Amino acid sequence: MSKRVYGKEFGFHTRAVHTGNDVDGETGALRRPIVMANSYALPYDPSELNWSEAGKNLYTRNGGSNQQYLQEKLAALSNGEDCVVLGSGVAALSGLFFSLLQAGDHVVFSSVTYIAVYRLLHELLNTKFKVETTITDTTDPEAVRRVMRPNTKLVHIETPGNPVIAVSDIRAIAGIAHEGGALLSVDNTFASPYNQRPLDLGADFSVESLTKYINGHGDAMGGAIIGAKRYLDIIRAQSQVNLGGVISPFNAWLIMRGAVTLPLRMRQHNDNALRTARFLESLPCVSFVMYPGLGSHPNHAVAVSQMSPGFGGVLAFGLKADHDTHNRFVSHLRVITSAVSLGHDESLIVFLGEKDERQYLYPPEFHNGFFRFSVGLEDAEDIIGDIEQSLKKTGLL
Ligand SMILES: *Cc1c(COP(=O)(O)O)cnc(C)c1O
Repeated sequence: MSKRVYGKEFGFHTRAVHTGNDVDGETGALRRPIVMANSYALPYDPSELNWSEAGKNLYTRNGGSNQQYLQEKLAALSNGEDCVVLGSGVAALSGLFFSLLQAGDHVVFSSVTYIAVYRLLHELLNTKFKVETTITDTTDPEAVRRVMRPNTKLVHIETPGNPVIAVSDIRAIAGIAHEGGALLSVDNTFASPYNQRPLDLGADFSVESLTKYINGHGDAMGGAIIGAKRYLDIIRAQSQVNLGGVISPFNAWLIMRGAVTLPLRMRQHNDNALRTARFLESLPCVSFVMYPGLGSHPNHAVAVSQMSPGFGGVLAFGLKADHDTHNRFVSHLRVITSAVSLGHDESLIVFLGEKDERQYLYPPEFHNGFFRFSVGLEDAEDIIGDIEQSLKKTGLL
């Protein structure tokens, strides 16, 4: 007995539960086994095999079944034709860049991106591999148009962008990229496919750090690229087989399990983050709050036009306080933990001080140091209560 739940005729929740979760062919189990083997039996005459072929049960770096099941689910949730799952979000991003770009090509990318994107594009690909790169404020689509060149192959944006929650207009930038003969990739990690599906808005690739919302439990790393098969075939072979970014079957299995509850968790993240953002905005000791769901966000209208039903669980805010007071505030928190990462079940906060080397790329309100706050799944009252009691102990309230 087998079941196949694909395609838009099924709702997001149904696809999250079923796609890729077929009955196991060998045992009839309703959960597929974790296949931890490195190697697979060869045919009678192996001399015709292509050792570099991806997606084949040959050697686990070429492909494995747990990875394959997760790819089916993520392609379905992102409304994409194909997906490659890799060992981390950064493996997905580097796999995308190294597979698609070559010396002499030009890339435009958001001034607000995950730090490894900045290192890969701004420090590695341009200096060592002669790929031209331009950092642009992509919250203004016209700024993207101005820096396009005849050799622009890729525009890479992150929206909402880490860590200052900048929002860029996916539809407008897809139009500009395609007019210039370039492809558009969108890092969709902060929104997750529940709140935003870049492929539906005209992007060519949606990139996810599965480590964050899609796994959601803070216990496994992974990354994914979703897009058209004709590109994904190339990216899969390069990023997985030749660059070696393959995911562990166990982590693929864990992320598969986490992804089932993505829509339920995202609803609580969306709701808790909006309530927390509104609370923070009401406090006189808070200098600013950046959250796409607030009317005060500079690109709120764009966020409303491309994110639904919510705006994710990550916000940024500042305190009217000196450097040490920010650290004291964090030290008094009891529910919220000081740690990097985001999209876990628990609330995580990180103080990004005024010495950040990319400060010059951020809006001025961020220059005195700020918090990136990943609002978790706890009761909103407890999250807000924790902030309140800590501000009181710090002497700010
Ligand atoms: C965390 C993150 C990444 C990197 O993902 P890893 O799984 O940590 O390698 C990429 N993009 C964004 C927006 C992220 O938040």
